[in-house]
Amino acid sequence: MENKKLVTILVPAYNEQEVLNMLYDRLKNIMDENTNYDFEVLLVNDGSKDNTLNIIMELREKDKRINYLNLSRNYGKETAMIAGLDYIKGDCVVIIDADLQDPPELIPEMLKYWEEGYDDVYAKRNSRKGETFLKKFTSKMYYKILQGFTKIEIQKDTGDFRLLDRRCVEALKQIRESQRYTKGLFSWIGYNKKEIRYDRDPRAAGATHWNYKKLIDLSIDGITSFTTSPLRWSAIIGVLVSLAGFIYMIVIICQTLINGVTTPGYASTMVVILFLGGIQLIFLGVIGEYLGRAFYETKRRPLYFIDRYNEERETNLKKKEN
Ligand code: UDP
Ligand code: MG
Repeated sequence: MENKKLVTILVPAYNEQEVLNMLYDRLKNIMDENTNYDFEVLLVNDGSKDNTLNIIMELREKDKRINYLNLSRNYGKETAMIAGLDYIKGDCVVIIDADLQDPPELIPEMLKYWEEGYDDVYAKRNSRKGETFLKKFTSKMYYKILQGFTKIEIQKDTGDFRLLDRRCVEALKQIRESQRYTKGLFSWIGYNKKEIRYDRDPRAAGATHWNYKKLIDLSIDGITSFTTSPLRWSAIIGVLVSLAGFIYMIVIICQTLINGVTTPGYASTMVVILFLGGIQLIFLGVIGEYLGRAFYETKRRPLYFIDRYNEERETNLKKKEN
């Protein structure tokens, strides 16, 4: 008997008690139908406050293909994903949301392309059912801005739903930055990419964990973790403004030489002060963003702590890194 390849399905879950059983049924179908592969499901419980962990443990009782990782608290999806990647066993991994917005039925197609030699088969959404106009609009604008700033190509309308070959996983595991923007990292590591299309379903049950604050945070992380061009733009705009200031200075000097000292000028003085003040504050903010990132990264804290992997209780003495 030849050895079957092991496929890991990685699912970060935070307060997903309503959908987990549905998710399991859909995944079970896929796993049972594709007999050419062995499957492992790794559920990462990201510090859920509801019954998620208990449901996961019950599922594992039923089906030993299910493994779980319980994090010590809620770290957010980005961190839950890297924690999961650290623990997967498969020759490839499919990252999928717990809420069934990403149809597991796409997995066989992903596997097909993987067999053809692609390392990163990502699913791009055709439509976004059940999402508000504002969310769609802001995400579209955001991609535009991000793409304007960075040189690496970031896939539009693509989430974390994708199949990654083992070597992509090993690459991602080496990137230990704490302010993660995984969507950009997928592009940054390179390798052979293949796009497939799908219709994103609305959430099967439960509520989204996203809000605009998180979205804005993630967007800023996205820009600041991949490019320093906002800093360069600050400098360029600074040069332009001071050039304009210099010209205005010449104008004022000439006027004073020709007309003598005339006191009026309140309006123009105020305009200049307010404008320059505003620009300076904005650029200080930009510098602050980068300084803040440097601050977090220099602490070199571990990205997460885990409470247990399956039945094994983790002690902090046993350190799992890289
Ligand atoms: N998630 C997580 N930790 C969090 C928030 C979300 O692991 O702090 C998981 C969540 O369980 C789901 C996925 O990330 O599997 C996507 O979350 P959600 O559906 O809320 O986001 P959306 O699809 O609305 O962007
Ligand atoms: Mg969702």
